[in-house]
Amino acid sequence: MAEESRKRYKIICPYCGRVQYACKSIFHEMGIYDAGNGSCLDCKKPMSLAYNPETDTMQADKWELVHNEKM
Ligand SMILES: [Zn+2]
Repeated sequence: MAEESRKRYKIICPYCGRVQYACKSIFHEMGIYDAGNGSCLDCKKPMSLAYNPETDTMQADKWELVHNEKM
């Protein structure tokens, strides 16, 4: 079970295109699949991370694109 939660998902930075890996966030574990966030290891820009339980993948999008309306 600990192994499962440590699984890392491949994401691609929407800003610079760098491939990197992210774990599921606490929000993803709670079932709020579009509430993850992180920052690029390379260009440091904020990313929104959405987990897709159907395909078991993680998708990174530009932060301002996803959160524009909410903020
Ligand atoms: Zn980047």
